[in-house]
Amino acid sequence: MSGKILIVDDIATNRIVLRVKLSSAFYTVIQASSEGEALKLAQADPPDLAIVSATLPEGGAMRLATQLRALHGLADLPVLVTAPQLDEAQRMALLASGVDDIIEKPYDDLFLQARLRNLVRARVDIPRSFQLAESPTAFENRARILLAAENPAPILLFRSALEAKLPHRILPTTFTDLPKTIGAGDPADAVILLVSPENPGVALRLLSEVRTHARTRHAATLVLFQAPFDAAARNHALDLGAWAAVPFGDNISELALRLTTLLSKKRLADLMRASVQSGLQAALFDPLTGAHNRRYALPRLETMLQDARRTGAPMAVMVADLDHFKQINDSFGHTAGDHVLIELCKRFSAALGPRDLFARIGGEEFLLALPDCQRTTASLRARAFCERVRTEPFALPGTEAPAHVTISIGVAVLDPALEQEAKPISSLLDRADRALYGAKTAGRDNALLSAAPPESRLSA
Ligand code: GH3
Ligand code: MG
Ligand code: MG
Repeated sequence: MSGKILIVDDIATNRIVLRVKLSSAFYTVIQASSEGEALKLAQADPPDLAIVSATLPEGGAMRLATQLRALHGLADLPVLVTAPQLDEAQRMALLASGVDDIIEKPYDDLFLQARLRNLVRARVDIPRSFQLAESPTAFENRARILLAAENPAPILLFRSALEAKLPHRILPTTFTDLPKTIGAGDPADAVILLVSPENPGVALRLLSEVRTHARTRHAATLVLFQAPFDAAARNHALDLGAWAAVPFGDNISELALRLTTLLSKKRLADLMRASVQSGLQAALFDPLTGAHNRRYALPRLETMLQDARRTGAPMAVMVADLDHFKQINDSFGHTAGDHVLIELCKRFSAALGPRDLFARIGGEEFLLALPDCQRTTASLRARAFCERVRTEPFALPGTEAPAHVTISIGVAVLDPALEQEAKPISSLLDRADRALYGAKTAGRDNALLSAAPPESRLSA
């Protein structure tokens, strides 16, 4: 698997040993011997994961994890810490700092490789855009955590011990009931699976299901292995996409810390998905009116045109423009003008069907495309739009009397049966634009149908 890994260790031989292990697994490796060097390198050449040595002076590993994640685009950087045997306090301090995992020496190579695959893949799988919609904060609400085991007996004690350390809601369930529990209530933020050494297969199968189920796909997953610890099953769980997989004994405090870190990661991943979503939204929709924008409309129009040519059904294209809109802004103010635009879009949308296209393609200019619409229907529909605007004045905020608004519409109809030559979409739009100009010069508040010239006036 490809991926760029930053190794930070003040001891050269440690860096070499690790680099050899990683290079044989096809990772690209970059190395630094100090915190300062690591930060510079990560800024210039952002890694997909960092492995930091706990031997860096004065708590450097913990500080570096925070500093690396503060760099642009690295908020979700996975950080592993390598360490000689640690005592309980050192271990807890590291986990409390939010690092993803601790790899103790001598290395268990299979675990090291499984953990790297797991973290690199999880990070690459998260869609990202350049900017987060919100800045990440801790999990504000009480998280909903499902705690599942094959037998209910060990869970209840474990649950109350965990609840004593965390502000979250922990819902115990059995493997048999887990699918039902997942389906009920709000989606879970995290799922903990307690694996018994006799039957790890059942839990691992469930883990796969949790990772693919629509309601838990984005939940944090923590897999706990009861003694005697089965290292192969743990590595398997990591390859199945568990967010963390650890031995389970009396380490409740450690599990609470790990859960806190996993929930922060979940929140960050949620924010990243939301920011991609809002980026997509901004790319295709006009923020003021919520209507589609020109960028969306033109390719869509092209597809509609191709469909019309294929099926032979006529299609109408209309360009609508507010009349004397500048005067509305001048008389009532720009905010009132915005309200007119919003209300007008509502009226158009309400009058259109699911196959029709509607978009705001300019400041006060709109595009409509109606499939399966021949000339007579197109004329009638366009006139009805004008009437609907003219006869229902627009209520405006801060003004007693409603505003009287009118629009003009230019209409062009493509009839594939009559037009053998496949002209580009721009020629149809040009015809609609010319008809709009004709409607304006003819006095506004009307619709004109382009007869591919000369144009024929409909009615006021
Ligand atoms: P015509 O009947 O010839 O179309 O006249 P008009 O005043 O509507 O056209 P003109 O092109 O002279 O002016 C368009 C106005 O639309 C000017 C501009 O300030 C206003 N406008 C464009 N976008 C927005 C917007 O998002 N909000 C508001 N309030 N006004 C806008
Ligand atoms: Mg106008
Ligand atoms: Mg205009």
